Amino acid sequence: MAAGSRSATAHGADGGGPAPSVRVRRVLTTRAGGRSAPPYDRFNLGDHVGDDPYAVAANRRRLGEGIGLGPERVAWMNQVHGTDVAVVTDAGGETPTADALVTDRPRLALAVVVADCVPVLLADPGAGVVAAAHAGRRGAADGILERTLEAMTELGAETGRVEVLLGPAICGEDYEVPAAMRDEVDAVLPGSASQTRIGTPSLDLRAGLRRRLADLGVTRVDTDGRCTFEDDQLFSHRRAQPTGRLAAVTWWEYARP
Ligand SMILES: [Zn+2]
Repeated sequence: MAAGSRSATAHGADGGGPAPSVRVRRVLTTRAGGRSAPPYDRFNLGDHVGDDPYAVAANRRRLGEGIGLGPERVAWMNQVHGTDVAVVTDAGGETPTADALVTDRPRLALAVVVADCVPVLLADPGAGVVAAAHAGRRGAADGILERTLEAMTELGAETGRVEVLLGPAICGEDYEVPAAMRDEVDAVLPGSASQTRIGTPSLDLRAGLRRRLADLGVTRVDTDGRCTFEDDQLFSHRRAQPTGRLAAVTWWEYARP
């Protein structure tokens, strides 16, 4: 069901005795293991891509159970390619319309769904603050990373401690766009201009996001280099429409002694 689980441990950075150790968890899903029928086969976690709602609900339950927290501890959002950030304290109630979720609560998983856009998982283990952001071409250019980091800082995170994972996304060699669009995006997200294998204009959003993070003082950045367009174990909107969505999920918990 889930691939690419990672964890990191750290201790509170402030003095005053030993802080409880915090473990940050990250899970990335693939197409494998779910209930959805083609073309959403099989582990589609997007709930407004045209798939059977019962299949999506079953898949989401399976994800919650698979990560050991339970479906009632996974927060989702209605993503709209914007820059609104929702700070959440539980996973109940109405699903927020936002492109990033932030929390300081333990064992509350935050999920972002994508099929080519960049899922960005952020954490400050020292503060016990995590975030999941959806960075497509528009959101990345419009400042979703900045808004997410601001919300994390308001909850006590420090930019210099933030660790980031850029998840699977369409790569620079496959994300062909008109030259004008490439130039427009590169002007607001420098470093994102790229080219395809045959030399036509394209975008490498993860390269642009890495540069933006460095400019913002975030240096601990890992990239999952998988390309959604090339890897048929992943969903790609550019390869097939309609299609499903994979999820990138993060939470923090107190490490067992
Ligand atoms: Zn690619």
